[in-house]
Order: sequence, then C-alpha cells, then structure tokens
Amino acid sequence: MSNSGKIEVLIPRSLCEIENADSLNVDDEDFASVFVAWEKGIVSELKPIKIQNKKPKKILFPRFVETHSHFDKSFTFREFPNFKSNYQEALSVNLEEHKIRTTKKVLERAEKSLNLAIKNGYRAIRSHIDTYESQDNNIWNELFNLQKKYSSKLKLQYVALASLEFWDTSHGKELAKKFSRGNGILGGVLVPPFNKAKIRYLVSKTLLLADKYKLEIDLHIDESNIEPGAGIKILLETIDRLDIKVPITCSHLSSILSLNDNEILKLGRKIAEKNIKVIALPLTNFWLLNRKDKSTSLHRPVAPIKQLQKSLVDVSIGSDNVQDPWYPFGNYDPFYLISLAMPMLQLSPWDRLTLSSLFLSPSRLLKLNWDGLVKKGCPADFVILDAEKWADIFSTNLKREVLINGALYS
Ligand SMILES: [Zn+2]
Repeated sequence: MSNSGKIEVLIPRSLCEIENADSLNVDDEDFASVFVAWEKGIVSELKPIKIQNKKPKKILFPRFVETHSHFDKSFTFREFPNFKSNYQEALSVNLEEHKIRTTKKVLERAEKSLNLAIKNGYRAIRSHIDTYESQDNNIWNELFNLQKKYSSKLKLQYVALASLEFWDTSHGKELAKKFSRGNGILGGVLVPPFNKAKIRYLVSKTLLLADKYKLEIDLHIDESNIEPGAGIKILLETIDRLDIKVPITCSHLSSILSLNDNEILKLGRKIAEKNIKVIALPLTNFWLLNRKDKSTSLHRPVAPIKQLQKSLVDVSIGSDNVQDPWYPFGNYDPFYLISLAMPMLQLSPWDRLTLSSLFLSPSRLLKLNWDGLVKKGCPADFVILDAEKWADIFSTNLKREVLINGALYS
C-alpha cells in the first residue's frame, strides 16, 4: 500500500506549523487552507494554497490521543447494567463484574476497543485496568503482549487502577517492580468521604513506591460533588511534606468546580507549580454525579478547564468509560467526545486552547514522540473528513479516512 500522497485541505490554524504563513488564508472558524504532501509516511511539504473561488472540501486533523479510558470493562453494560446511573451503583455493579472477570474477557474487550479506536482515528490510548489482589497474575503479561501487537498502529499505555491500600501490600510492591520494566503507571482512587489520616498515610506510601521505581501516578481524584478539592489538597500537602518529584496526573478533579474562582486559580497555580497534569472527563461526570431522581439540576461537577488553563495547568479532555456501568454510551470515537464536550463545557472549537486540550496536551501527557502539530517532518498520521466547517464535523453522518504512517487504514 502506498504511503506517499498529497492533498489540499483545511487544518485548524493552531494545529499546523507552516513556513511562509504570510500568504496563508485562514477563515472565520480558524481553518487554514493548505497543501500537504507526504513521502514514505512523513510530511514532506506543507504550504499555503491560493483560494480563487473555492476552498478545500476536506478537513484534516492529526490522529487523536485518548488520555483516559477503561477498556477492561468496556461493552459490559448489557451484562452489568446500572439503571440507577449513579456513582455508588456503578461501583457496586463493577465489583460484581470482577467476580466473573477473566483475562480472556479483558483481552476481548480490549481488542474490540482498540480496533474501534484505530478505525475512528486514535493514535494513542491510556487505559486504566482494574487491579486487585484476587486477580489473575498473568493478566499483565498478556496486556503487555497486546501493547506490542498493536504498536505499529497505536501506542498503548496502562494504569493499574487499584485501591491505594493495594500499593501497600506485597502484591502491589511486586507489580510496581514489574512496571519499572514495562512502563506501567500506578493508579488509585482518592474520592471523599475518606478518613484523612489514613488517606495521608496511603498517598505517602504510593508516592514513595512510585519514586522508588521511577514510575508515574494517575489518580481518579475528587470525582464527587462533596468536599470540594479534599483529595487534591491532601495530595499537594503530601508532595510538599515528602519533598518528592513524581510525575502525576489528576483524572477528574471535578469537585473543585464548587470552589470560588479565586480558590480555583490559587489551587491551579499550586497544581501547575508541581507540574501535575489534569484530565477533564465531562461525559462520565455529567452522567453520574449530582444525579437526583425527582429533580433536574444543572450543577455538574467537572474540572474547571478554563480556570485551570488560566493558572497554566496542562489540561487534557478525555472520554472515560464506554458502554459499562459507569457510562452506558460511547464508541471510542473522538468526534463523539468533542461534539458533546464542547457544548457541555462551552469550549469553542476555533479557540487555540480548546484544540490544545484535545491534541497537544494529550500528546504531552502520554509523552509521545510527536507533539500533534502538523508540520514538515511529522508523521502522516491523519484523520481526513469530508467537511468544510465545524458544523459538518459535529454532524451524525461524518465521512472520514484514517491515514497511519501515510497509508490509508481500512
Ligand atoms: Zn476513569
């Protein structure tokens, strides 16, 4: 299959780096008209095109990066439904599912997820994997094999999502040691109500373990509508007390939305100072949190992305669950995510910071070789749409082609 080609397209201006930009035509929605050529999978030419009467009828994006998913439980909703649709019920159904979980089932769900993700336009995914003492020990070898199997099409990262107690057990310590060879990430949950003294102790233990094996941490933190910021405050205090530098991602950080703007900015500055990255997960937050049976409330705790960006926090937007007890919808489709997340969070697609949280921050978070900017010398890893404006992108009959290293994926 050919991995060379050329095309005239529209690209969001903030997602391309272009020489001779003086003659670049950029429309009201911030799409630039460009000519792109690639040879042997690498972009060899990127230049402005003159628009006489018509502009390109295709829009090009870099392939997407999913910062937060759970493919070990994807597509379990029918077998393990949660019709109460709240956090507590999701957790209890999730624990029921563990009782009959096998490595084979997890791998089947993972492959189904990965194939969809590649077809829909993702180039990298971080997935959390539920991790507990009674689990099949071999699961991690199988998951690392899967990572290799897909590596030419998609970069895969794993977070072992365990209770913080787990990282203080011999099983937990062994797994951390294994991860120091396989590049796994330590995960945990820090959601109130909790016993503060106990949580302080467990957060310290987890940080020290990560530091010992030079691992990253990714926490489900403050995914709640009570005790705003209780988890992040303990995390920041503990980092200061231990005077430790562990790369940390805070997934969710929803409850801090209830703090006032000044408090959020102050907290944001501390988060940025410690170089902690944040993932906003609007879909599950809007679905699960602050749900009331008999009344509709518009109060939805979700990471306050604009205030955090203003404090210079690197914020990504992720999808979270797909068709499981935590969220019954979704399909590993980045366009499903963006067409919901933008109106939910009042993010404009023509704003640089919006696209940054969808393309550039996620690439930094996963430490990918390519930062996601389309430029000469970058991989021809694209999603090309039959579209001329944002309204076409947020439509239900989107036609797309995915290019992986310059070759059409089919
Ligand atoms: Zn999650």
